[in-house]
Amino acid sequence: MACKMVNKGLEVRLYPDEDMVGELNLNIGNARFAWNHLLDEYQKTYMLFKQHGYNRLKCNWTTFNTMLNMLKKAYEFLYLSESSSLQQVYRDLINAFNKFFNEGTGYPRFKSKKHHKQSFRIQNNNNIKIKDNTIVLPKIGAIYYRTSKEYKQLLNSDEIKINNVTIKKHNGKYYAAFNIEVPVESFEKTLNSVGIDLGLKTLATLSNGLKITNLDLSYEEQMIKKYQRILSRRKYNSKRYRKIQKTYWKWIDKKNNKIRDTYHKLSHNIVKFYDVIGMEDLDIKEMFQDSDQSSKLQRIGLSSLVDKIRYKADWYGKILIQISRWFASSKICSNCGYYHKKLKREDREWTCPQCGKHHDRDINAAKNIHEEGLRIYNRNFVNLWCRGDSTVILEAIASIAREVRILELYSSR
Ligand SMILES: [Zn+2]
Repeated sequence: MACKMVNKGLEVRLYPDEDMVGELNLNIGNARFAWNHLLDEYQKTYMLFKQHGYNRLKCNWTTFNTMLNMLKKAYEFLYLSESSSLQQVYRDLINAFNKFFNEGTGYPRFKSKKHHKQSFRIQNNNNIKIKDNTIVLPKIGAIYYRTSKEYKQLLNSDEIKINNVTIKKHNGKYYAAFNIEVPVESFEKTLNSVGIDLGLKTLATLSNGLKITNLDLSYEEQMIKKYQRILSRRKYNSKRYRKIQKTYWKWIDKKNNKIRDTYHKLSHNIVKFYDVIGMEDLDIKEMFQDSDQSSKLQRIGLSSLVDKIRYKADWYGKILIQISRWFASSKICSNCGYYHKKLKREDREWTCPQCGKHHDRDINAAKNIHEEGLRIYNRNFVNLWCRGDSTVILEAIASIAREVRILELYSSR
């Protein structure tokens, strides 16, 4: 069975004692301090350069490393931090700036002490150790952690490689989020393929007719709203405020965990049971433009489901084919190919005027997505075959998913 090393995230809860809490908070505070100062310093120098007609101040390792060294000299308490955690700060800052310059995401923001999520990250230079129930961090020491038996075994195994660990403080609790490399075995081939239509009412409709209803989160949402209301009436940051805030955060966590668990299970099963998976490419921009807040969040949630299916397919040797969102999956009759131009958004069921077949809108769409996915898959398979290099084919199959996506992007232009 094929085996590959993949990057995985793994989060465990930490139980630091009082001294350790002090250490962790110091590192968190210093990382935030460094972020804010480096950001401020870069902005000022950038403007100064511009005023004097120089080119853009380079946003790179050299610039920020020099700035960090100057900062450390001015504020000696920064030496108390684990040193790679401060380098990590400017690496993140460089990433944030690059994203801003190249991808048009938001301008990097200052970090507030009041934000309920705080963190710092340590690069593993062979100095992060896992010993049974403790994590030993350089310059900080050993901290107890608790997690499932399966995770504990994985963390203690020699087969994994720890790249880095992020220590997070979230709602007053501490966590360690590891980025690790793990050997993963491919799933067995099932010779099955599927098309999946995603939606807000029905979460996923499979081309075989199976419908997976969306999560019922009404209770969690009701509780979140309730505590939000109470919070708004209390004095900000008072003792009574913070008490309710904890409960409020608890319900938000509960809701998010429920979504994450469901998406993990669903994506796992889809990738396990199907070798070739056809799905529509969701339009991210359209998602953000959605004026209805709750449907906007649901759409963003859907894209995280697609992400999970995408990386799991890659891990386990399966193929995800994403179909251009211009493909009219809902309007084509999956039985005879008739294009039903007049189909409205609210028509949940319809009868084909050409062949008379009665359709459930979502199942029909999933069937078309399935067909289209297989068509693209076969086209690429044949292309490779025609090049005459049959040995290449098996290795190439794994990369087809990506290649297909690129081809599709070109052909839809
Ligand atoms: Zn028809």
